[in-house]
Amino acid sequence: MAADLVLRGARVIDPASAFDRVADIYVRGGVILDIAPTDEPLPATHAIDVSGLVLCPGLIDIHVHLREPGGEQKETVATGTRAALAGGFTAVCSMPNTDPPTDRPDRLREVAAILSRDAACIVHPLAAAILDRDPARLSDFAALREAGALAVTDDAMPIQDEDIMARALMAAGDAGMTFVAHPELDVAGDAGVVSDPPLAAELGVPYVGPEREAEGIAAWHRAAQVVTGRTPARLHLAHLSSAEAVAAYRVFLADAVLAGLTAETCPHYFSLTAAAVREFAADAKMNPPLRGPDDVAAVTAALVDGTIGVISTDHAPHAPAEKAAGLASAPFGIVGLETALGVVIEYLVRPGALSLMDALAKMTIGPARALGLPGGRLLVGEPANLTLIDTAAAWTVAPDRFLSLSRNTPFRGMMLHGRAVMTVLNGRVVMEDGEVLI
Ligand SMILES: [Zn+2]
Repeated sequence: MAADLVLRGARVIDPASAFDRVADIYVRGGVILDIAPTDEPLPATHAIDVSGLVLCPGLIDIHVHLREPGGEQKETVATGTRAALAGGFTAVCSMPNTDPPTDRPDRLREVAAILSRDAACIVHPLAAAILDRDPARLSDFAALREAGALAVTDDAMPIQDEDIMARALMAAGDAGMTFVAHPELDVAGDAGVVSDPPLAAELGVPYVGPEREAEGIAAWHRAAQVVTGRTPARLHLAHLSSAEAVAAYRVFLADAVLAGLTAETCPHYFSLTAAAVREFAADAKMNPPLRGPDDVAAVTAALVDGTIGVISTDHAPHAPAEKAAGLASAPFGIVGLETALGVVIEYLVRPGALSLMDALAKMTIGPARALGLPGGRLLVGEPANLTLIDTAAAWTVAPDRFLSLSRNTPFRGMMLHGRAVMTVLNGRVVMEDGEVLI
């Protein structure tokens, strides 16, 4: 039986099976038909020569704000998912802090309707753990699971109360969902903006230290100790950014009180420091904030030793007019879908901190396992979702060319090496050389 398509001669890397060799990938009916040595060609209707490129499972980003409904001036499902394909991602998890938030089954179904109409890549919508934006009330996790959510999260509404954290872990465990926590505790009252005291003073904006994040992780750790053994709870900690957070997470991991505990960091936390706000102002403002060189080193070390197994973008688009409000009052967040892979290769792979296989693991099988998502590996009979990467391609970040509706990035003008040059979704080439074909 002839394949519909063969991608010939790429260096095929599948971190889930530690596979790294030149091979041909055959696709039929949208699924992988065979992964075969190049010297035994099989019949195929259409062939693409991809020699010289790296081929890996379609990248997965479990932390993306698509903004629709309610924030269409920042991003829509159509633009955000096309930005994902351009960045090499075939699947993303969308965050539920839309307007209205996705905190009820009927709202989840409304989001699903938008996705089936407009999404260009696979989207797994996460559900809001907080009901009606009231951090004292939890939504009905079992009903949200029933309506299709694979995980729940307190994104944008970090839970402050340890009793509620414990209840949330119990409910998520009972419903068979991972809880994605934003570990941020209001230890000093206000959130602040810049994580470097002299720089905050110089720029006249409030300081925020790493305690917020480290105390948040410690609070989730204590909540986990309360529920241990009572339910198979799985917790995923969003965007670790500081040495203190990494240290608190190491203690939590060593305690082994949960059925599953994972954590992510984002490209900006291992590549930039707080100094970026001098040049990029509000385009370098996110939560948690950029930290110092020691934090960059600690986050990188945790990626290298495997403590942090997931790299996500926290893609958080904001319209130019919103970011123009200035460092103190502009909203938090930066876009990341179209720069993530380049930053990972430039800052982790090229300096030799991580092998390409280990780096790609944190963007494929790592995130899939953390949230129990399909994909993230190359397997005969599974959907042919593939990313082809030119690891040597030198390019300059030009936000004007983003497919995202927003431009808020502190990587503007940076020269990076490595980018996705082709994205294949269900056996179909949907992105080539930055151009999305659907
Ligand atoms: Zn977020």
